Amino acid sequence: MAHLHAGKRILDVQQELISARDALRVQATHDPLTGLWNHAAIFDILRRELERAQRQRTSLGVVMADLDHFKQINDTYGHPAGDAVLREATRRLQSAVRTYDSIGRYGGEEFLVVVPGADEASALQQAERLRASISKAPIEVDQSSAIPLTISLGVTAPAEPEASNLESLLRAADLALYEAKRKGRNRVEMASAEGVADGPAVTARPTA
Ligand code: GH3
Ligand code: MG
Ligand code: MG
Repeated sequence: MAHLHAGKRILDVQQELISARDALRVQATHDPLTGLWNHAAIFDILRRELERAQRQRTSLGVVMADLDHFKQINDTYGHPAGDAVLREATRRLQSAVRTYDSIGRYGGEEFLVVVPGADEASALQQAERLRASISKAPIEVDQSSAIPLTISLGVTAPAEPEASNLESLLRAADLALYEAKRKGRNRVEMASAEGVADGPAVTARPTA
């Protein structure tokens, strides 16, 4: 009997260790506020998908998205309400991406979406779906306040990913996002060819 008890205790401890390890793995790769992939994890996914696209000579879409005037939402409704808006925005974006796409929280209110196999047209279409999912209805954080929200998105989907690297992809998507902001927000912009190429920057993104 004593041996059986000892054996069961060992099994219990082993199970606890497995659970703890799994929890740590989730913590290391996910953002606690939104539950999305965190910066490191989505960056890793992008790196792997780029390698795969280069190996298999398929296209790859990358979408950089940033909520519009989010600072104003915090200033008007308070930081906790801002957090609630961020979580609801995340739910909307998640339900708009396809199952084989990946979405991560790239920064504060900035998202990176990896769209494997997407050419320019389908990456644009995907970005437009994401945009519409945010602007479709104001976000209700409590009974009294419905907060209108929009998002701007920059898209790149090089026809030949062999010519791209991680930095050029991210820079292209980021420049396109900046264009979307500059042209009035709540819109999608495609990276221009010049923005994708290595070489002197077309326009530097202000660091404000
Ligand atoms: P733009 O349309 O140009 O993107 O304007 P913006 O106000 O969204 O841009 P900016 O980058 O100046 O501000 C982003 C704000 O997002 C500032 C920061 O306080 C807020 N923010 C970032 N992370 C969080 C978060 O986790 N929770 C809350 N509530 N706010 C956050
Ligand atoms: Mg913003
Ligand atoms: Mg931002």
